[in-house]
Amino acid sequence: MSLIDDARGLLASGPLCDACLGRPVADRSFGLTNAERGRALRTTVALADDEPYEEPDGDCWVCEGVCGRFEALAERLLDALGDTELYTYQVGTRVPPLLAENGRLLREEAGLAPDAGEELKTELNREVGRRVGARLGAEVDFERPDVQFLLDLDADAVEVQRNSVAVYGRYRKLERGIPQTEWDTYDESVEELVAPPFLSALRGTDATFHGAGREDVDALMLGAGRPFVLEIKRPRRRDADLAELRAQVNDGETVAVENLAFVSYEMVERVKEHDGTKTYRATVEFDEPVAEREFEAALAELDGAEIDQRTPHRVDHRRADKIRERAVLDADGDLEDDRSAVVDVHGEGGLYIKELVSGDDGRTEPSLAGLLGVGATVSTLDVVDVEGADEPFLTAEYRRERAGSPATAGDE
Ligand SMILES: [Zn+2]
Repeated sequence: MSLIDDARGLLASGPLCDACLGRPVADRSFGLTNAERGRALRTTVALADDEPYEEPDGDCWVCEGVCGRFEALAERLLDALGDTELYTYQVGTRVPPLLAENGRLLREEAGLAPDAGEELKTELNREVGRRVGARLGAEVDFERPDVQFLLDLDADAVEVQRNSVAVYGRYRKLERGIPQTEWDTYDESVEELVAPPFLSALRGTDATFHGAGREDVDALMLGAGRPFVLEIKRPRRRDADLAELRAQVNDGETVAVENLAFVSYEMVERVKEHDGTKTYRATVEFDEPVAEREFEAALAELDGAEIDQRTPHRVDHRRADKIRERAVLDADGDLEDDRSAVVDVHGEGGLYIKELVSGDDGRTEPSLAGLLGVGATVSTLDVVDVEGADEPFLTAEYRRERAGSPATAGDE
């Protein structure tokens, strides 16, 4: 059958708007709306048959008038957006089953394939979406838009989903006795000390703190700090002055944040899963006097060594007892007096430092205590640095630097 025959078949099914007439041939030609396709078909049939041209009267049996309301539907989404900023958006539509069924009936009556052209839902997403984007001056993003609109024509409702903003940074913990995330036993946590200014500036509903591992509650986190991502959920703002937020957090002098950057949501997984190496500073007490020369020799032995570690005694006994091999990348230290020392160890992720010092009753081999032949224990253990093993945690592909100011529905 020719295109004109298809058009005759579609028109014979009942009163149709231009968009519903054009939609079953939406796969033909580019750069036209379905309404333009429909109008062209209607005109062509009138000319071919030399019949008077009749404008559609608005009572379309397929869409029941939805296609005449793209502008009004876009307006409704913008109203629902309220005072929310965004750079990117996406529109999804739920079409009432009755209208979807009408689309199938239309094709059946015209003798077309059940999936000819495109679905009403697809056209609504595009046409309403286009109008929303034009009004906002925002870009469509099919992956992870800032705002996801759901136009539910079935329930006659609109939903606006605001996706999280992710902020990367490194934190330093300058006091002992602070867990990384909220914990009933403690008055404050790194999360609680960092999140509030961000939550308030980005006007989110809540925040989640994702750390690249965590130090002991009683360990300090020093040096360049530990990578983290702060996820601000359902934000109404998309931009903030990170230097100002850093200053607000660092004012407290309990934790400090550095290297702040807006990042893509993938950075949450990245900080949790990227292999890191860590540098620790341990204060060590010896059971008997230790000579400088022996201390230096023992550290030289550990420097660069592969360490066999059975699961430490102190670790949860439900965890399987296995031997793991972890490298000491660098070991250094100073004897304070003959009974105590400060030791810096840069080790592969997963290296247990307390056991590297004590030997853990022979479960860690070699160890500082084993090499010296003197009992040794760690009295304080702080983390000095956390670095990506193969590449830095934050690389260009995770940065999310966006041009200009975010859009809002209030902009004209
Ligand atoms: Zn229609």
